[in-house]
Amino acid sequence: MNSQPQKTYLITGGAGFIGSHLTELLLDRGFKVLALDNLVMGRLDNIKHFQGHSHYEFIEGDVLDANALEPLARRSQVIVHLAAALGVRQVTERPVYTIETNVGGTQAVLEAAKRYGCRVLVASTSEVYGKGSKIPFSEDDDVVLGATSKSRWGYAASKMVDEFLALGYHREFGVEAMAVRFFNTIGPRQSARYGMVVPRFIRQALAGEPITVYGDGRQSRCFCDARDVVEAVAGLGEHPQAPGRVYNIGGVEEIAVADLAQRIKDLTGSASIIVMVPYSEAYPPGFEDMRRRVPDTARTRSLLGWSPKRGLEDILRDVIAYERGLAALSATRK
Ligand code: UDP
Repeated sequence: MNSQPQKTYLITGGAGFIGSHLTELLLDRGFKVLALDNLVMGRLDNIKHFQGHSHYEFIEGDVLDANALEPLARRSQVIVHLAAALGVRQVTERPVYTIETNVGGTQAVLEAAKRYGCRVLVASTSEVYGKGSKIPFSEDDDVVLGATSKSRWGYAASKMVDEFLALGYHREFGVEAMAVRFFNTIGPRQSARYGMVVPRFIRQALAGEPITVYGDGRQSRCFCDARDVVEAVAGLGEHPQAPGRVYNIGGVEEIAVADLAQRIKDLTGSASIIVMVPYSEAYPPGFEDMRRRVPDTARTRSLLGWSPKRGLEDILRDVIAYERGLAALSATRK
């Protein structure tokens, strides 16, 4: 444990769901991790098991605060910029905060990287494919966003600007920057607070509450375990040819949301009923859902030899076990 670390990674949003899984992997591989998080979305509970590790430091602070970011960037060779405003509910309810946080945060990180010679992976999202109908989505496909009156697209646009910035800092200033487009990522520690479907359904099922399927339930997603996602991120963090491009990272098994609800009901043995909720009741005005979201991961696969190892059923079992543990813990605290 006290050996010299190989390299230092700064993870912004390090106390978040993906950040905490990435920390685990990087520490396992002998890297040093500096985790910056303002604890708006991130949680100390996610990282408590790293506290005391000799290669780990947690710093509470905001990426938009140069006093917090600069000294950390100076000590790092790679920055994984995960800090962002996200979650459909939050981005439709707080459009200005979303744009300021995402665009301002990414620019601050890229500037710091330029100054200190860091490699940067900017987290982006499959939201940037918008309403594109060419399935699967590959990185150089055209982007089809909805009207600016629908605030969901403000989030997609903010992440597109982040990608333009990453590619621009690479082209214009030679920064080793790239963007990673995360598709639906799930796993233990994901918060249900921002409306993500898997933790919500599992919590509803475990509590015996109705499982709320929005719309007709035939919209589909491909889910990928966070532990698989961070393998790809760590690979891109090290690969000499990775900079200057965008990479899809996502699962391959497509499932309709109504089938997901049934699968979770079966796996939990829950007596919950499954209810269909119209979009107009589920979301604030300005919301449009995506029918299908399937990644083409050929680029990531061919560069890194990466593909997800965990199937949906295994991931759901793990998340159910995690949520059961949380529920038991909160019952004993009452
Ligand atoms: N969804 C649902 N019930 C919920 C939460 C979400 O039916 O309680 C649906 C949502 O409308 C979407 C899918 O599940 O079609 C995935 O939603 P999530 O917010 O997890 O991810 P994203 O929409 O970004 O793919």
